[in-house]
Amino acid sequence: MVTREEIEKTLLSLEEPMLETLKALVRIPSVKEEPAPGAPFGRPARQALDKALEICESLGFDCWQADGYAGHADLGEGSDRDALAILGHLDVVPVGDGWTLPPFEPTVRDGRMYGRGTSDDKGPVVAALYAMAAIRQLGIPLKRKVRLIMGTDEESGWEDIAHYQKVCEMPRQGFSPDADYPVINIEKGMLCLELTGKLAQTGLKVLSFSVGERHNVVPGIAEAVVEGDAALADRINGTDFGCPVTAAMTPQGVLIRTEGIPGHAAMPELGRNAIGQMLLVLKKLGAEGTIRTLADAIGMEYDGSSLGIRVSDEASGPLTLNIGIIRVEDGLVRATLDLRCPILTDLDALVKRAQGMLGGDIRVDVITKKEPHAVSEKSELVVQLLRAYEEVTGLTGRALAIGGGTYAKCLEEGVAFGALFPGEKEMAHQADEYISISDLKKNLRIFTYAILKLAAKEAY
Ligand SMILES: [Zn+2]
Repeated sequence: MVTREEIEKTLLSLEEPMLETLKALVRIPSVKEEPAPGAPFGRPARQALDKALEICESLGFDCWQADGYAGHADLGEGSDRDALAILGHLDVVPVGDGWTLPPFEPTVRDGRMYGRGTSDDKGPVVAALYAMAAIRQLGIPLKRKVRLIMGTDEESGWEDIAHYQKVCEMPRQGFSPDADYPVINIEKGMLCLELTGKLAQTGLKVLSFSVGERHNVVPGIAEAVVEGDAALADRINGTDFGCPVTAAMTPQGVLIRTEGIPGHAAMPELGRNAIGQMLLVLKKLGAEGTIRTLADAIGMEYDGSSLGIRVSDEASGPLTLNIGIIRVEDGLVRATLDLRCPILTDLDALVKRAQGMLGGDIRVDVITKKEPHAVSEKSELVVQLLRAYEEVTGLTGRALAIGGGTYAKCLEEGVAFGALFPGEKEMAHQADEYISISDLKKNLRIFTYAILKLAAKEAY
């Protein structure tokens, strides 16, 4: 049996290469783009996949890629079905507002690495990869295969994993390091809804109001242009709306701008939705029709109260809601909502209730629906992952429920495991995203022991 000292020595020697690999991946701006041949989510996403697989190969793993959608690296032998899967993703959300550092040129400063994807999810993927590399270097015998699966469409439509599952057998059990420690064994259901209604021809005339690129991002800044003169701009600048609002005259009309706090739709309460703020500002200025209805039914609420869909259950907590996108065009207002629903919620009934509350003038369409997912906290998987976490960190482990949908739900018995530690700031989808380098190194150790506990022949 390999000793803890030997394992630690190998891990130490891999820390630098791990950081270099992360830098190389952060340098690839793998935001979703238009498809290109062999690159279903655009060339940068494909480039990130190729780069990751190239590094996996150089570390001695058998690699395979699924038509540019996703790829995997294998450690050890055994059937695909019984492999221990580690599921992560190499795509990132768009840069968004508020960066003070280059998003795609990693900056190491004050013990952190900054860059889009450092914490979500390139950092955790790289930590898992080097955990596998350590076990390979140490020659520790395994009783099952360990498979690192890397997707490239997690932040958008999950088409990568859908395709992967079509062309390759998905392991039954595993974890996804794409959320929080200790372990997340319950993931809420997810609904992405599009609300469409007519742009009112009465009241304040909204000329343009198009904000947000992703339903799962809390928008940090919203701008709208309304019909009006300098007096209106002055009035807006002199009014306290309860949030930062400024107005300026432009040739098109009065440009209104409001600033919120960007964040992740799975935890909308940690951000401040700039679209919600703008809806309330426009309502206060006299907007009618759909804009007014959206201001009344949603506004700054992230629990669905006024939309009549506030629900919660003991295991998974409350429903959360985020307006990620709004578009005013062709006489229509379209808003995209991201809902994270407790596991006991009937998603179809929820949509009906929202539709009933909004009335006939606004149409509710379901864009995506992901059923909730739960794994027993007494399962061997959860127990061993928590052990690895406790041994490495000295902290107490427990199983949690979250609103974020991770790739864990693509596995029959899958949980989210890491990579954010309790009390650390959530940097996913934020400006100046970073990962703490000491946390990354801790991840490397936790993943190493997690893999050993779940896949090694001997008991670690
Ligand atoms: Zn992620």
